[in-house]
Amino acid sequence: MAVSRREFITSATATAIASRVVTGTVSAKPTTDARIVLVYDDGPVTDYTKAFPVHKEEGVPASIGIVSKWVGTDGSESMSRAATADELSEMESFGFEIMSHTREHTSLTSFPLAADIEPDDTRAYPKGPHASHPFHHGYEVEIYDGNKSVTRKIVGSGRNDDDDRYMVLDEPVGTTFDADTARERLTPKTMRYLLHDSKRTLESYGFEVDNLLAPFDQFSGYAERFTEEFYTGVANAVDSDGINPRGKVDPYGIRRDYFIEYTDWETISGELDTIAETNALGVFGAHTQREEVTPEKIRRMIRAAKRRGIEIVTLRQALADAGFGPETATTTTTTTNGTTATETATSNETATPTGTRTVVADSTKSSGDESLLDRYGPVGAVGCVGAGLGAFWWRQNDDE
Ligand SMILES: [Zn+2]
Repeated sequence: MAVSRREFITSATATAIASRVVTGTVSAKPTTDARIVLVYDDGPVTDYTKAFPVHKEEGVPASIGIVSKWVGTDGSESMSRAATADELSEMESFGFEIMSHTREHTSLTSFPLAADIEPDDTRAYPKGPHASHPFHHGYEVEIYDGNKSVTRKIVGSGRNDDDDRYMVLDEPVGTTFDADTARERLTPKTMRYLLHDSKRTLESYGFEVDNLLAPFDQFSGYAERFTEEFYTGVANAVDSDGINPRGKVDPYGIRRDYFIEYTDWETISGELDTIAETNALGVFGAHTQREEVTPEKIRRMIRAAKRRGIEIVTLRQALADAGFGPETATTTTTTTNGTTATETATSNETATPTGTRTVVADSTKSSGDESLLDRYGPVGAVGCVGAGLGAFWWRQNDDE
């Protein structure tokens, strides 16, 4: 059987964590095949200061969704600052999984329109609490209905007197769209750019990035079409209970619940019971930048899982166990016996100690913008989100 380097690193990480778990304060020997993944969103410094110490003490990993453009910056207004590359690196070295949360926290789905569009109009009003596209200046957007499609560049944004958000387009739309039938979405090349650039930037820091966390818990068939080109799975494809039945894990259909915000402990306890009884995969998220997400509540979740014999793993591990994972181009060992393979894995780990990796990316800019822009076509000056309206808007909606 062919064994990839990735699988070895994954199992090496799991073994390292398992050995730490044994020394934890709560007996943690899993007694079932049930598993949960704990996911933290947005990459605030509080992932490092609030969640990481608890996970270290308890000897369990997490999967964290990082907005690549925010690494080492102030991040969004909802956080004091974003985690630095060094902080992320320390967490990854312990066993945390770094996931992409897109380049700049952009919704990957389409939105209906709140108002009709006339041929002379240069404004479009996407509808819905997560319709963030107006604040992503420089990107191409497609407005379409069943019969026609128009592509324009987003060059501005604002709110009308009724406080509806709108995007300003570089040219009049030139045709009529009925709000009842029309929608808007980012163009395929913009989607690929946002998804690919994020992964590549995070990898340039030295992180291993396989999975995506979708901004605003918004995911769809349109998003999946492009996501599957770059990522093995999506941690929050369905915002619902966090129970993924055994044998039916769909990497692009993973159900995630929140375990502190938007819920109560009775609900989460019940879901953990079901997961333990049915050997399911549970996926649960939290925003550590929020006040109610405390170290105590994170510890309560971890210990509740341990008491039920549920193992806590990364999404990468959970997907690998379910038979999904990247086909690495650098499969280094095709082995006929386990000994050779183990030695290879060991030498890889030794040659690249994750704690001392060289950080090559400049945290203030995305690496490789030019060549990706070449590949996906010009999208112009990118992004006003992360400052001003975009970040403010994001914070407001996150509080809903
Ligand atoms: Zn987010």
